[in-house]
This record gives sequence, C-alpha cells and structure tokens, in this order.
Amino acid sequence: MPVFSRCLIAAVFMLVSSLASAETRVIHAGALLAVPGERVQSERTIVVVDGRITEVRRGFADIGEFGEDAQLIDLRDRFVLPGLMDMHVHLQGEMGPNRDAERLKMSSQQMQMRSVMFAMRTLEAGFTTVRDVGNSGQEMYALRDGIENGWIDGPRIVAAGRVGITGGHADISGVKPQYMEFLTGDEICDGPFDCRRATRNAVKYGADLIKITSTGGVMTDRATGTGQQMEMDELREVVRAAARMGRKVASHAHEEDGIIAALEAGVDSIEHGTYTGERAIALFLETGAYLVPTLLAGKTVATAAVESDFMSDAVKEKAIRVGNDMAGNFEKAHKAGVRVAYGTDSGISPHGTNAEEAILMVEAGMSEMDVLVTATINAADLIDMSDSLGTIEAGKFADIIAVSGSPLDNIEELLDVDFVMKEGKVYKNK
Ligand SMILES: [Zn+2]
Repeated sequence: MPVFSRCLIAAVFMLVSSLASAETRVIHAGALLAVPGERVQSERTIVVVDGRITEVRRGFADIGEFGEDAQLIDLRDRFVLPGLMDMHVHLQGEMGPNRDAERLKMSSQQMQMRSVMFAMRTLEAGFTTVRDVGNSGQEMYALRDGIENGWIDGPRIVAAGRVGITGGHADISGVKPQYMEFLTGDEICDGPFDCRRATRNAVKYGADLIKITSTGGVMTDRATGTGQQMEMDELREVVRAAARMGRKVASHAHEEDGIIAALEAGVDSIEHGTYTGERAIALFLETGAYLVPTLLAGKTVATAAVESDFMSDAVKEKAIRVGNDMAGNFEKAHKAGVRVAYGTDSGISPHGTNAEEAILMVEAGMSEMDVLVTATINAADLIDMSDSLGTIEAGKFADIIAVSGSPLDNIEELLDVDFVMKEGKVYKNK
C-alpha cells in the first residue's frame, strides 16, 4: 500500500476514534464576559471539547450539530465569566482559637484530609485556580498533584515553597522551645549562601515558586514588628537562585522598607503591601511587579483582635494597626497604576469566602471591572498561564463560572456562584 494511503487511513482512524472519545459540552450563555476589561456580550454559545474551549459563537447554537453525545448546559438566564483565581491562599489551615493546638495535635495526614475539604470549598466558591503561598511542602505538593491527576476534586493549585529566616515571619513561634526545635524545617536559613540552599531545596522537592517574608508579619507570636527582616543579600540570593531554575518569587511585606528591598531584589509580587508609599509605588511601576493586596486578611485580623480573645498581646497590636491601614494604601497604589492580582490570604479568613475580597476592593475605590481583571487576566499573567487561563476564548482551559446577575452592577453577585466548570468538568450547577 502506498505510504500516502496508509497515512490517510491512519488519519481517518485517529479522527474517528477521537470523535468517539471526545467529550463535548455546549454552553448557552445569556450574558458573557469572555474577556474581562472588554464589553459584555449577550446570547453566546461556548463549545468545550475535552476540557478546552474550541469556539465562542454568536447566538444559541443547535446542540444537534455537535453529535448525539454532546451535552447542553443552559445558562441563558445567567451571567457567565472566566473562573476566578486567588493568588494568596493557605489551604492547610484556618485561623482561630484552635490553631496552635492543632499544630501539635493533628497528624499531617489529618491536616491533609481537611485541606482536601478546604480545596473543594474554594472551587465551589468559583475559584478554579489558586496559588498556595506557605504550607508544609510535601503535603501541599501532593494536594496539587492529586487534583492535577484527577484523583480528587479541587482548584488548580500553584504551590509555593517557603524560604524564611530564623525568628522571622515564616519561622515557628508561640510554642515552647522543644516544640519550636521540632517544628523548625530546613526552609529556615540565614545569610545568602544558606538561603540559596533553602531556595534550591524548595525547588528540588516540588515548589512551583518561592515564597519569602521580607518583613515581619501579624500572626508571628512575637513582638518583632512588621518592618524589614530579611537582608538585601538574602533577598537577592533567593531571587537569583529561583530564577536560575525558572521559578518566580513572591514576598510577603508590610512596611515600606521591606517592600522596597524585595522589589529592588527583583521579586515578582508583593503580598499584602500594607504600607506601600510613593517610593514603593515608583518601584512597582518600574519593575512591573504585582501587588496582591489581601484586604480580606486585614479586615479579618483586625476584627478578630477586637472581638475574640485567642490572640496574644503581641499579635493583637499588629492585627489592629495593619488591619486598619491596608485598604487606604491599596487605594493609592491602584490609583497610581500599580498592577494588582487578586489575593485573599484565605486560611486567615475561612476558605470559600474568597469573593469577599472583591467587595473590599470595590469599597477601596476599584471599579468592578478592574476587580474582575485582577482575578482573571492579571492572575493568569502572574503565574505565567495567560495562554491557558484568564479568559473565555478558543484554545483556553474551560474554566467557566456563572452568577445570577451582573457583578459589574453589583459585585456581591460573586458571593453566590451558581455554576462552576473547571477544565470542562462541571462541579456545581444550581
Ligand atoms: Zn498569607
């Protein structure tokens, strides 16, 4: 048989078998925000084949055209938009009176089972991709891989490996010395060479990015402030070692000295960025780094400091100060043109309430459309997945959610997500 005929037969066979196995879902969307930042369209058909969007077309296409196994999803009375993305979560816990006790009482396996539940709550809230920034490594990488392989359900996870300094915000605090010794991991480093080792180690064991803490933090149970903690040589070394292995760096930072130091060292995002002032804004604009504001964390800790009694005095002081200052500075940074990616610090706030950040961002002066851009297009850019995520366009993953009314008119619509699809699979449809 001529080579050409053999190729033709093989091609036909592959086409037939791929048609037979292809899973086609056809969505009729009443209102569609396919590309946040652009115009809302009405009456569109989204075609999804094997988890990817293959076409977005005008009008409601007849399902018959797509073969008898194609499934129709009727969202004609819904507002359809890309799956939301949260760039700052901690899926392994939740803040509360039991957190310190849990560290000592719960096995890592129990924590892992619970994080599966937290992950599912996040997905059902319409967040189809999250970046987990700070966790105990192997469990988080296993959660990420378990979801990626389809063993369990959950949002797509981009998982950070932590690198922090002795006594700093990423280190253990608030328990007796023997326990501290036991709970201190090899992600704790001092000096540039040691932090180079810690960074390489994080990549070795599975980190998608590196998370550092250039300043002190609110939940550190020690009165060590919220100013710069890591030295310039340590910051530069982490960024350099991470870049050599193709990893980005996210830095937690509250006071402006630590924000500036981290930006000068070349980090890709500043988490919280509470005291972003004029000098920091200029550096943000110069470097193109993202600010991940986490206003929800600020509000949550400030409220807990006043209304509950599980925080030590050291934590309380920071919680009230930082919590109340976050939103005002965010507004200035956003108005000055700093690039913002959506992030909640969920785990401080309860998992599944991630959309509350959007309301706080609007209250702080950001338009509803800009908020949606931070949670889709900007977030996708921050994790280098713009090719696959962030919009509803041909070629991208079918990460699609729907709400009852337009979040552009009322941002609170995001609090009640009716429909969640991730990579073509429907997780919620009410
Ligand atoms: Zn955090």
